[in-house]
Amino acid sequence: MSFDIIKGMATTLKNMGKKPTTVSYPEQERELPPRFRGRHVLHRYDNELERCVGCYLCAGACPADAIYIEAEENTEENRVSPGERYAKVFDVNMLRCIFCGYCQAACPTGAITLEHTYKLASYYPEDLVYHKEQLLEPKGQATVGSNTVWTEPPPPEAAQPIPQESHVFDGSQASSAAVGLGNLRTEEPMLLTDEEQDEDRRMLQKKEE
Ligand code: SF4
Ligand code: SF4
Repeated sequence: MSFDIIKGMATTLKNMGKKPTTVSYPEQERELPPRFRGRHVLHRYDNELERCVGCYLCAGACPADAIYIEAEENTEENRVSPGERYAKVFDVNMLRCIFCGYCQAACPTGAITLEHTYKLASYYPEDLVYHKEQLLEPKGQATVGSNTVWTEPPPPEAAQPIPQESHVFDGSQASSAAVGLGNLRTEEPMLLTDEEQDEDRRMLQKKEE
């Protein structure tokens, strides 16, 4: 028996008694963390009016350009939201969405949240553009969605910022938001020798010094 086979058998034996780290999806499903971001939901107030006031802030905040809105004025005969306007068209393109949650954070009325639905597969790309009719809560079922879990303080084991001055990765977990700009020297002037040429010449200058 070659050494590689013995090594392989040893690894198999070592792991035989261990609990599997995988689950047999779709029969079994993992319990998701409360702040998991899945498919969007548009919310209503208890009086059935839509929370969305068609302000476009979510679309403006979206880094993936995944939200398309057409707003329309509310009238006394057709009042859809409590604001001046409502979203006549509200589409979220799931093929573009990166589930960052910026749209939820930007919304001033708590109208849009990301929830725990993650089964979004389809054979047809057009099925993955969700329209308002699919996203909006049914009448009589007003909820505030995952907004509640984001107002609570994060658990102590959540990502902590990397110490910026140590210049050493100490094993801490960190989100990109926590890291911020890191040690990048943003105050340093850009030394362009040619206005037409959009090139950063700092390295060049350092070498010359
Ligand atoms: S979760 Fe992020 S990428 Fe997706 S629609 Fe909202 S802002 Fe855009
Ligand atoms: S979901 Fe919120 S942020 Fe987006 S248009 Fe509606 S009210 Fe404005």
